[in-house]
Amino acid sequence: MSALHDTDVRVHYSVKANSSLAVLALLREMGAGVDIVSGGELHRTRCAGFAGSDIVFSGVGKTAQELEEALRAGVLMINVESAGEMSLLEAVATRLGVVAPIALRVNPGVSVETPHPYTRTGEHGMKFGIPDDEVVQLAQAAAASPALALLGLAAHIGSQISRVEPFQTAAERLLALHEQLLALGISTITHLDVGGGLAVSYRDESALDPNLFAATVGPLASAAGLKLIVEPGRFLVADAGVLVTQVLYRKRSGGKEIVVTDAGMNDLLRPSHYNAYHAIDTVSETGSAVLADVVGPVCESGDFFALDRVVGDIQAGALLAIRTTGAYGYVMASNYNSRPRPPEVLVDGGRFAIVTARESYPDMLRLESATPEWRSL
Ligand SMILES: *Cc1c(COP(=O)(O)O)cnc(C)c1O
Repeated sequence: MSALHDTDVRVHYSVKANSSLAVLALLREMGAGVDIVSGGELHRTRCAGFAGSDIVFSGVGKTAQELEEALRAGVLMINVESAGEMSLLEAVATRLGVVAPIALRVNPGVSVETPHPYTRTGEHGMKFGIPDDEVVQLAQAAAASPALALLGLAAHIGSQISRVEPFQTAAERLLALHEQLLALGISTITHLDVGGGLAVSYRDESALDPNLFAATVGPLASAAGLKLIVEPGRFLVADAGVLVTQVLYRKRSGGKEIVVTDAGMNDLLRPSHYNAYHAIDTVSETGSAVLADVVGPVCESGDFFALDRVVGDIQAGALLAIRTTGAYGYVMASNYNSRPRPPEVLVDGGRFAIVTARESYPDMLRLESATPEWRSL
């Protein structure tokens, strides 16, 4: 994000968008920090070479064990989302004899237009963040605790946000809270974390303009003398990914063309979960086009990649490229229908590397047993 070069800023890549070790290592080499939401992501990022000080820990339901792991790893800050989490963290830090660096994740009450309600997170009444009218009280409690160091105010208002105004509003609300805290003598805050959610273009919608973002949010943080943290996930990886799938069958049903692929909703969940649009291209030229449903082999009517879509007039054996699948693709894949997950292949110009091997049948059964070892209660 060279657009933010005038601001004291760190990009903390949101790992949940694409947590492949190879992708994490690449982003680390480029200078990014990370934003994580689980102990598993903490483990991954450590394996990919990130230092504790590169890590911000977000998430609405962190367990005592995850909090302990984060403190032992020396993360930059833990973005606390409730009074309950703060007191648990205080207890864990006290037990370990350390001071927990925290930010308060504020629910700023900002409504955003996102393509799907599941990707809105910054409105009142949602599970995310601390309601803004409770922040001051919690900040005072944090400031009074010897086991907590209040370093930041944070927000994350949603995903796939294409306009800069909601980010500006959220940043202004955080800064207004910061002013209130300063007036109360709480002057330990050094970081303003405005979250992620920067939109990419899947179809004809516009991506967020990073220069406009930088020019709007950057100066707000600078003027307040705070370091800016931005947590883009999708924006950094979505365009980099393509799901390649082979057509298994063409059929007709109810006057409709149906293209059945060897990839399914277990490989790419977004179309069925969010009703998300992904462009679909044929890998080889077909000449003519058809109106078709492109569907997977999973036993669910919701297993589709596109409905009533004009696609190349392909036959069985041909390959399709489902576009913009670098974010929230493989990370949401499952073994539903006992389907092994596909490999992940990194492509760099004329070379490629398999960075996640194709899952095998035995891989899927590794943790299971057909013969229960019964124990008494
Ligand atoms: C998911 C998430 C992000 C990243 O969201 P994108 O839409 O992928 O940019 C950033 N911060 C937090 C706290 C998140 O939960």
